[in-house]
Amino acid sequence: MIDSHAHLLPDFIKNINKIIDNARTAGLEAVINSAIEPKHFQFAENLEKNNKGFIYTTLGFSPSWIKKLNFEKAYNSIRDYSSFIAVGEVGLDYHWIHDSFWKKKQQETFGKFIELANELNKPLVIHSRKAETECLDLLEQKAKVQVLMHCFAGNLAEANRIVDLDWLISVPTAVVNRKKHRKLARSVPLENIVIETDSPFLSPIKGQKNEPAYLKYAAKEIAILKEIPYDEVDSITTRNTKEFYQI
Ligand SMILES: [Zn+2]
Repeated sequence: MIDSHAHLLPDFIKNINKIIDNARTAGLEAVINSAIEPKHFQFAENLEKNNKGFIYTTLGFSPSWIKKLNFEKAYNSIRDYSSFIAVGEVGLDYHWIHDSFWKKKQQETFGKFIELANELNKPLVIHSRKAETECLDLLEQKAKVQVLMHCFAGNLAEANRIVDLDWLISVPTAVVNRKKHRKLARSVPLENIVIETDSPFLSPIKGQKNEPAYLKYAAKEIAILKEIPYDEVDSITTRNTKEFYQI
């Protein structure tokens, strides 16, 4: 079982080594750590080096922070790193950003990251919030690499579009208590699903920070919703994650 998207970063988690130990003890094969602003990049690379074969890194730019983050810096510094396995998360967030100037800015920067992923031949991990159709339009126009819609919460028509494009939807552990994710987990084919925690966010356990060790909550819930064995969810989603990230 692989956590296809988490944030093991000092801004969010204090005892990262303990959290990694917990993930190993819980039987995870790997955790994909998503750094979402330039100041995280070096930390993420070091964490990967110190946990070789268990922690992998994706480098991106959080669209919800577009007003305060330096896009150029993120865009340029990604090229200085070599060991990361995907570009992301990048995308559009219209939940936090409402004015048209900044929405447009998000679209421009997102477009540039898609082109960067094409150029580097790395898959894309996408953050889309209240902008699913706009995200898919841009991706369909530009992306030449494989796409994973992280923590996807769009509607069924948008989900079908992703399936038709043979891209992936990531179901978070929050599926245990969020209606939208449950609906998607039920209807999207397992061949197009990976699972994630998005740690330390979206915990399946009330009042507790999320961590990769809780990934099994997502697999269990998908097994119940689809009425299929837990082992099947585990093996197919793990295979999908390995294929996507080429690990
Ligand atoms: Zn995330």
